[in-house]
Amino acid sequence: MRERELVIIGGGPAGMAAALAASESGVRDILLLERDQFLGGILNQCVHTGFGLEYFKEVLTGPEYADRFIKKIGDRRDIEISARTFAVDLTGAKVVTYLRPGLLERVRAKAIILATGCRERTREMVHIAGSRPAGIYSAGLAQKLINIEGFLPGRRAVIVGSGDIGLIMARRFILEGAEVRAVIEIQKGSRGLVRNVVQCVEDFGIPMYFRHKISRIYGRDRVEKVDIVKVDEDLKEVPGSFFQIECDTLLISVGLIPENELAEMAGVALDKRTNSPVCDKLNHTSIPGIFVCGNSFKVYDVADSVTQDSVLAGQQAAEYLKGL
Ligand SMILES: Cc1cc2nc3c(=O)[nH]c(=O)nc-3n(C[C@H](O)[C@H](O)[C@H](O)COP(=O)(O)OP(=O)(O)OC[C@H]3O[C@@H](n4cnc5c(N)ncnc54)[C@H](O)[C@@H]3O)c2cc1C
Repeated sequence: MRERELVIIGGGPAGMAAALAASESGVRDILLLERDQFLGGILNQCVHTGFGLEYFKEVLTGPEYADRFIKKIGDRRDIEISARTFAVDLTGAKVVTYLRPGLLERVRAKAIILATGCRERTREMVHIAGSRPAGIYSAGLAQKLINIEGFLPGRRAVIVGSGDIGLIMARRFILEGAEVRAVIEIQKGSRGLVRNVVQCVEDFGIPMYFRHKISRIYGRDRVEKVDIVKVDEDLKEVPGSFFQIECDTLLISVGLIPENELAEMAGVALDKRTNSPVCDKLNHTSIPGIFVCGNSFKVYDVADSVTQDSVLAGQQAAEYLKGL
């Protein structure tokens, strides 16, 4: 089994910032594992601007923001990047098992940083009744299909939830020539940034229904229409408020959850409600020498905060290694 000083799992903005900070703090043997073929994480599909305002004091797209870190990492000889490498197991003794094309390997690390990002909440988690036809996507998946695969998932969309990803996808659909028939939000206000509400929805005249929910999905092969109903302050349906919207696509944007399966496998204590590690200090987990940062630590609104958090994680891992 190979032995390394520091293994970082996840090559998004969090993993890259942590790797650079650890290297700048003196760690000379860093292995960065990324399951995708490219570094950059979710930023690769975020072709809109809005990144870097805090960290670089510039307006960048997601790929431009990621590129700044990819270039710096390429200059560091003490960071080895292993792309197309999927970490499938982690033990409390810091042994990582990973898959690479045609290979299953193990590495023992003195310290680990988990930077595995987050995943989207699903239709099942918000209990929408009805059939299960084609045309129902999480908003982030639809974003990947359009921005990376070049495939438009539908022509007439309804968006469930007003988080930032849903708002950004409303504008993306319109810019691709599709129609967005409504954004439906169960809360009394948007959960997204004000700039996204204004620039992605209001500027395009898309109707937004607050204190409303989708109560049923119809369609045999493909989504055909949805039932919408108003809810009161206790989120109970208001009698007589029901109406329908015809559509062929439903985008679900109802929140993100930290991706922490590896932490769980290692025996790291997790808050079952948020799926975040329970820790007394930022980035530390309940197992000494296993750190967590970025969206797998907690879901941040902007990538700049992810970077700041992850720089700290890299520095903390370096301090831990010095103390061994
Ligand atoms: C759709 C969307 C739109 C957004 N828009 C904005 C915006 O406009 N402005 C802004 O500032 N922020 C935005 N954000 C937030 C920002 O992108 C995130 O905060 C940031 O990308 C999180 O960085 P991360 O490194 O923690 O996670 P990610 O970027 O998700 O990176 C995690 C990486 O870990 C890898 N990974 C996961 N598990 C494993 C494993 N087991 N083995 C190996 N590799 C693994 C993944 O492949 C991925 O590359 C958006 C986020 C999303 C999801």
